Amino acid sequence: MVKNSGDKMQFAEVIVDIVTDAVDRAFHYRVPEEIEEEVHPGSRVIVPFGARQIPGYVWKLIEKPEVEKVKNIVCVDDESVALNEEFLELIPWFCYRYYCRTIEAINMFLPPGYERMKNLREKYAVLTPESKQKPDDFWKKMAQKAPRQNEVMQIMLREEELSRKNLIKETGVTPTVINELIKKGLLKIEEREPSFQLFNEKYGEKDAKTNVVLTHEQEEIIARIFKSLKEQKQDNFLIHGVTGSGKTEVYLECIKECLKQEKSAIVLVPEIALTPQMVAYFKNRLPGEVALLHSQLPQRERYNQWFRIKSGQCRVVLGTRSAIFAPLNKPGLIIIDEEQENSYKQEETPRYHAREVAQWRANYNGAVLVMGSATPSIETYWKARSGQMQLLEMKKRATPFSLPGVEIVDMREELRSGNRNIFSRVMFDKISRVLSDGEQVLLFVNRRGFSNFVLCRECGHVVRCPHCSVSLTFHAAKKLMICHYCFYVSGPPEICPECRSTYIKYFGVGTQRVEEEVNKLFPERRVLRMDRDTTTRQGTHKHLWKEFREGKAQILVGTQMVAKGMDFPGVTLVGVVAADTGIHLPDFRASERTFQLIAQVSGRAGRGGRKGEVIIQTYHPGHYSIACVKEHDYNSFYEEEIRQRHELAYPPFSELLRFLFVSESEGKGHNASLDLARLLENLLEKEENNGNLEILGPAPAPLFKIKKYYRYQLIIKGENINRLSDSIRKVVRKFKNTWNPSDVRLVIDFNPQVML
Ligand code: ADP
Ligand code: ZN
Ligand code: ZN
Repeated sequence: MVKNSGDKMQFAEVIVDIVTDAVDRAFHYRVPEEIEEEVHPGSRVIVPFGARQIPGYVWKLIEKPEVEKVKNIVCVDDESVALNEEFLELIPWFCYRYYCRTIEAINMFLPPGYERMKNLREKYAVLTPESKQKPDDFWKKMAQKAPRQNEVMQIMLREEELSRKNLIKETGVTPTVINELIKKGLLKIEEREPSFQLFNEKYGEKDAKTNVVLTHEQEEIIARIFKSLKEQKQDNFLIHGVTGSGKTEVYLECIKECLKQEKSAIVLVPEIALTPQMVAYFKNRLPGEVALLHSQLPQRERYNQWFRIKSGQCRVVLGTRSAIFAPLNKPGLIIIDEEQENSYKQEETPRYHAREVAQWRANYNGAVLVMGSATPSIETYWKARSGQMQLLEMKKRATPFSLPGVEIVDMREELRSGNRNIFSRVMFDKISRVLSDGEQVLLFVNRRGFSNFVLCRECGHVVRCPHCSVSLTFHAAKKLMICHYCFYVSGPPEICPECRSTYIKYFGVGTQRVEEEVNKLFPERRVLRMDRDTTTRQGTHKHLWKEFREGKAQILVGTQMVAKGMDFPGVTLVGVVAADTGIHLPDFRASERTFQLIAQVSGRAGRGGRKGEVIIQTYHPGHYSIACVKEHDYNSFYEEEIRQRHELAYPPFSELLRFLFVSESEGKGHNASLDLARLLENLLEKEENNGNLEILGPAPAPLFKIKKYYRYQLIIKGENINRLSDSIRKVVRKFKNTWNPSDVRLVIDFNPQVML
């Protein structure tokens, strides 16, 4: 409807703030003239929806609505959280890639805890201009007629503004008194962001290492990255540096350069790496510039930090995964430390990978992207090798401490010599010696909740799927071995197909077993155990860590948790009790994870100045993911792993899209997975050029039952799967018409990091 030329009515597409499939599309509204100036793409507005009024986000402004009855946008709700141009472009890419709803993507760009914190925004009583002009007489009269009101006004004339809460507290008046004054136009109420004590103030000035003399390697690498920063070129770097090579120093120099160019920077670190020391280090080296965003901060502090970033007050964001969504102005540098870490992938909807979002933002902003790791992920290293990233190597430690010596013990030999204990003789001897020297031992058990594969204790042979090359999982109840990718089923062998031994059985060593054994062998020593069972209560983790660091126990038995980030200066011996459990997980990344984990846990030895030792017990001394750790040889590991990935067309040579069906009913879960498989097969038949897409399964997921829920999975494997994103979505919608989510929940995961 055109009122007159040049004065067109405005309409808007709005995404409403309701997380369901049914409303996962834009709704059309009219933009009333009075607020035309304020409403733009990205605005958070209030709209009538059904009988209610709810928040939503303006997606686009349009000239003509597609529906006849259009309602008016009520008002702009909160301009401080409007989506900027970059995010409006990022969101569609994000939804398409990770199969989430638009509103779920939008919510990633809100301040942490927004809904709750918004309600805590404080109401302030503020003096109006009129009341400032009132003559003394006016107040005298008021003092007689309405003494309570006058009391409030006397304070307000002095303070000009005061939080409503404090005003009431100070005067003891009822809210009605204040409301009267508002009605008279003497006071008004304004909303203010809550003010909280900021996190950084709690950190001391200690730990500031200044005037470090850079090593040659550091200088060379910094020069390479500076060049890109100065030329404002979108370049990608991978710093492959041994542990202790001084990557942090490189990051800091690059950030400083970036700030010099009036740009901002994001630094992502894995969950576990964000220790108080690390934070203090950054804050001291970049005073006043660092904002923190990570889930262990109280929500209100994160909320606060978010606004400091948005306002440009802080130009460096240091945080975990979700910090990649920080509302920075002009990001010029994005750093991802320990880029191979699983914690960069969100394991709930939306299932994004921070590394991929980082690449998107770097491309959009022309920013430099720097990833660092001692054990890069296969995918990233492959990118560096194939020229999509520049590879920068750091081969020397920045400190004088040398890398620990690694010894591999063949457990098959132990068995042959009659030792059936979980500790080899070497391990036992070394533990005894280290303990009598007053040093500490870390015993590591690689365990991910379950590990029931069939292993020959004579020769180490593990039964694998002939099609998928992942190990078969033994199901004790059914006495069957199953492939969790393609559902190949076979009975467990009586004798080893390799060496004819009858000593073939399913295998698993837990932390508890190891703890018992240590108690038996070293009864006079104190042992601590750190795993999911002993650290579920808040704070126990920190407590155990402190006790061990202070030397109150001599042996620490732990899982994944102890492998990363923690520094125990007293530890000179690291023992990996059963390195194999990791290799045989039914996940194509099993070898990669094993190598990374063992390399990392080995790095825990000898950090206090004394030379460390590492002993790795295994039935597969020749397996490349174990043998390469001995020589600290990443390249050989990579060569073998990439060869296998290529042969079996796993990432980076393909993409995977995993559909997981979760149901209380085994039958329903299975039927649902069969249904979707059929729909997807039809789709692939219809689509042209689908030759390279393959459907695997459905099959039971490796973790078949979690609590009372059964899990089935279906995998699409191939190149560039997401060119079919729209069609796949349609198929999923069809699927959801027949399957109620309360019966069968469907989880879609693009390029899953964990396939259990
Ligand atoms: P990485 O992250 O590469 O494993 P860090 O950045 O943690 O290594 O550095 C390891 C140790 O080396 C730290 O204690 C750090 O202070 C120290 N360090 C880094 N650069 C230098 C240098 N140029 N001279 C002396 N010590 C350094
Ligand atoms: Zn055998
Ligand atoms: Zn298989």
